[in-house]
Amino acid sequence: MSIRSACYETLVIRRIYTYPASILKEVAGDVTDIDGAVAKALDDMVETMYAAPGVGLAAPQIGLSQRVIVLDVDHENQGKHLLKLVNPVIVESEGEILWEEGCLSVRDYQAEVQRAERVLVKAWTVDQKEIEIEGTGLLAVALQHEIDHLDGILFLDHLSRLKRDLYRRKLKKMEREDREAPPPRRAMI
Ligand SMILES: [Zn+2]
Repeated sequence: MSIRSACYETLVIRRIYTYPASILKEVAGDVTDIDGAVAKALDDMVETMYAAPGVGLAAPQIGLSQRVIVLDVDHENQGKHLLKLVNPVIVESEGEILWEEGCLSVRDYQAEVQRAERVLVKAWTVDQKEIEIEGTGLLAVALQHEIDHLDGILFLDHLSRLKRDLYRRKLKKMEREDREAPPPRRAMI
């Protein structure tokens, strides 16, 4: 499936890898050159995120082991607060927040995860500018969730072993019964 943009570049909605795909466990590499391929990957990720629909997506979720993420936590005004971040790093975090998270790479499961309530993230933009993003609430949660993906960490890894084990069993049962996941209750990140 592809969509033509105004500049006639073909944007591609990419396949999203799901747990337990091994790419989701890998630590992604730093981007050393923000070139056309990186810009194209980010644009494809934006299309894929909106189509899913989700509020965030990290490159490993579409099979690319590089440190880039996209986020848009404001779907009411799609694109207005879109973030495309290269080599994002959390430089400050404070407070605590419990948030029920879901993930485009984890089928049919949401669970509460403890995160920092506020984070400050440094990153590069596609046009090679170094920027800082401050996030609270959903944006803070989504930034931490996506940067986790770059380190091969899923929100499942923040849960107890018991909860993870129960999810694994649920997933196996779903696969055995070849069941489609019901629509999620929460925004997927
Ligand atoms: Zn995720």
